[in-house]
Amino acid sequence: MDTALPAEMPVLAAPRFGFDNSYARLPEAFHVRMPPVPVKAPKLVRLNTALAARLGLDPAELGSDAGIAVLSGSALAPGSEPITQAYAGHQFGHFNPKLGDGRAHLLGEVLAPDGARFDIQLKGSGRTPWSRGGDGRAAIGPMLREYIISEALHALGIPTTRSLAVVTTGEWVMREEPLPGAVLTRVASSHVRVGTFQYFAARGDNASLRHLLDYAIARHDPAAAQAANPALAFLQGVIARQAELIAQWLLVGFVHGVMNTDNMAVSGESIDFGPCAFMEAYDPAMVLSSIDHQGRYAYGNQPRIAHWNLTRLAEALLPLLAEQEDAAIELAKETLGAFAPRFGAVYEAGLLRKIGIAAARDGDSALVQDLLERMAANAADFTLTFRHLAEAAEGDDAPARALFADPAAFDAWATGWRARLAQEAPDAAARIRAANPLFIPRNHLVEEALSAATQREDYAPFEALLNVLGQPFADQPGQDRYTLPAQAEERVTATFCGT
Ligand code: AMP
Ligand code: MG
Repeated sequence: MDTALPAEMPVLAAPRFGFDNSYARLPEAFHVRMPPVPVKAPKLVRLNTALAARLGLDPAELGSDAGIAVLSGSALAPGSEPITQAYAGHQFGHFNPKLGDGRAHLLGEVLAPDGARFDIQLKGSGRTPWSRGGDGRAAIGPMLREYIISEALHALGIPTTRSLAVVTTGEWVMREEPLPGAVLTRVASSHVRVGTFQYFAARGDNASLRHLLDYAIARHDPAAAQAANPALAFLQGVIARQAELIAQWLLVGFVHGVMNTDNMAVSGESIDFGPCAFMEAYDPAMVLSSIDHQGRYAYGNQPRIAHWNLTRLAEALLPLLAEQEDAAIELAKETLGAFAPRFGAVYEAGLLRKIGIAAARDGDSALVQDLLERMAANAADFTLTFRHLAEAAEGDDAPARALFADPAAFDAWATGWRARLAQEAPDAAARIRAANPLFIPRNHLVEEALSAATQREDYAPFEALLNVLGQPFADQPGQDRYTLPAQAEERVTATFCGT
């Protein structure tokens, strides 16, 4: 790609990431080498010291002036070879052959003490050749939202990219109004997306496609390299990971909001949080994104969309699946058929765990579906209904039934459920608490944290929220406020891309 780069940028002695740069070593077609764009007055507002430790990084170095310079994109750490990555993607069903990192820079990869490899990427770090009309920047609100949601998913045990730091830039970004700018440091097991495969497939560049496949296999599916058909084994792996991921999202009421193919990682991690949210009242048709008019990315549509996206991945891989296109299409179809059963198995087992059933019997599926239908009809809070089944299992139905517009709807279900539970091992309440979080990032709490930070540089609500979300399954005395659904006047009905 033609571009006058890179500008000179200071390289510091620290922080020491011990960068390795395997993606930067890939051929030129994969990326554009360039440093981030320095910012005026970087200020650290959050450092994830637990994540730093997991990565084997020194939090003191990261939090130092030199660390902040690096985390803001104003200087480079030793060994960093910054690049912006090429990718394409279907956005709301429409293919864009050239997206790429329009406001992100991959600084390098770290090898954690356990040997796991992670990308260290800045988001909001300035214009790139992929920026199109965009300013390459991010506002503080959406970066804090990504921090909260990614770390909440992680605490819930759901695969996700993570957030290492947020710095404010001392610059304004122009959106509907001027907003404080920020840079997020994102940590991912890679940033290879379905759209990365589409990028090379759309260009008919089969050599690069093969190279990308080998790279992704080495990083995410090393066993596939030994398979008779590595491309097929890789596709199977991605399908399985995505089926499990989407099932886990549904089981905690998560709506990603913008499941474009460029926002789907082949690692199986949740990635690119835009207008995402956790549902409160159970409603399978819930849509959060203000730009999703068709309900394409509604809560209950996520499995179908994941399958659609994976079909795009399979299409991109066709030249590598078999010599003959007909044979490749047959293989792809057969493999995509594995999505629904895999998703269904994880989702069903998860639902049964949520109601305290460890070993499935006939009729269990209908039992849990009946509960979901009653929850939908009665606008019952998704998170609390399941959580309060623990008290119901201990003999106190009041907290659960109070969540239903018509509490009798719960009573009618609970009779059959209790009879079924009597056939299970004892201590159902403990199982239910272990399967159902009490704390999720409720929209009004997220908005409260974001607006305090945006309007008053007050990060206390953000910190307090992160604190409770770190232990979502624990009873946390004194933190009741964080467990409650929004009051009518607090309710957030849409979240916005807010880029
Ligand atoms: P997203 O919807 O955040 O997944 O982004 C879709 C595409 O738009 C990606 O190629 C991003 O890099 C690009 N993009 C999003 N926001 C900006 C921005 N403010 N400046 C430049 N590019 C952007
Ligand atoms: Mg994206």
